[in-house]
Amino acid sequence: MAYLGESIGKLGFGLMRLPQKDGVIDVEQTKEMVDLFLEAGFTYFDTAWAYAGSEDAIRQALVERYPRERFQLATKNAAWIGCKTREEAVAQFDTSLKQTGAGYFDFYLLHNIGEGRTKYFDDFDMWSWVQEKKKEGLIKHIGFSFHSTPEALDEVLNQHPEMEFVQLQINYADWENPAVQSRACYEVARKHGKPVIIMEPIKGGMLANPPESVAEVLKNAEPDSSVASWAVRFAASLDGVITVLSGMSSVEQMKDNLSYMKGFQGLNGEQQAVIAKAQEELKKIPLIPCTTCNYCAKVCPKNIGISGSFTAMNLLTLYKDKAFAKHQEEWLVGGHGKNHADQCVKCGKCEEACPQHIKIRENLEKVCEALL
Ligand code: SF4
Ligand code: SF4
Repeated sequence: MAYLGESIGKLGFGLMRLPQKDGVIDVEQTKEMVDLFLEAGFTYFDTAWAYAGSEDAIRQALVERYPRERFQLATKNAAWIGCKTREEAVAQFDTSLKQTGAGYFDFYLLHNIGEGRTKYFDDFDMWSWVQEKKKEGLIKHIGFSFHSTPEALDEVLNQHPEMEFVQLQINYADWENPAVQSRACYEVARKHGKPVIIMEPIKGGMLANPPESVAEVLKNAEPDSSVASWAVRFAASLDGVITVLSGMSSVEQMKDNLSYMKGFQGLNGEQQAVIAKAQEELKKIPLIPCTTCNYCAKVCPKNIGISGSFTAMNLLTLYKDKAFAKHQEEWLVGGHGKNHADQCVKCGKCEEACPQHIKIRENLEKVCEALL
């Protein structure tokens, strides 16, 4: 059965990490990337009100240079960033229209639904508001991007069947990762009959440089294909996908993406087996076996961000990128109102609650050494 966006090319241009020059977005290089992308037959562009300078750059590089019907433009509303009233949240839409000059949006998303952020969209009834904009013709399709559990996604989709699509973080490394649950979230969206836009197929660049044992599997299978290409192709091979967003930062990355996505028909059985082997290699790397169930959080007297600390630590073990892991720790712990591992008083209450029998105190000490 046909689904929304089925005819859209399976590579989308994510505009969150546009090339920079002297600390600002390099519009000239962006123009070159836009030209290559459109020439190759791809048409989907993904920006957001919250991506500094991105909407303005895409106006210059795309909207002012091509007929409006040549492309689809998506942007997003982040009501949870600094909005105290509905009017302030709605104003983001007017700003986006002005900054992009697009006249209307093909896809409009409520940005980053999940956890404490959903409340803002509920309180301001942004769900009804996007439907009004759709009736006015200023939005063609409404949906939301999502970062939370499959259970929470199920609840949102039960409450809002009017949403036409869902944007999810999906990649082969997080497919079964308990902290992300890519597969389970994808299956919930499909159960509700929603097509999916995939974000972070390369995990913010991490899968362009995966653990050595994983890279070896992929390189042995196809010496001429980039390691990153496997990640994008894996995501694009799933059923019911509108497009896979790749946040490209240079002409070179654009050319690499286009080289394997132009005319791509999906991974064959042999290639799927290569991905399965890569996933097996990932599983062999010893990680803290935290499932982010957060039972420990319920009993911790110091409100320590235990699961967030462990997720960051696991990222460090896997990808060896300290700056990235530190950034994740800041967001998952401090950014979620939790205290850092160095505030732990070693009372041990968390260890009694942990179904995985993790030596939490010992591991928090390692977090302090490595990331704080
Ligand atoms: S040992 Fe540390 S992390 Fe565990 S409950 Fe006590 S204060 Fe919280
Ligand atoms: S209780 Fe254990 S598994 Fe659950 S979040 Fe805490 S450390 Fe992780």
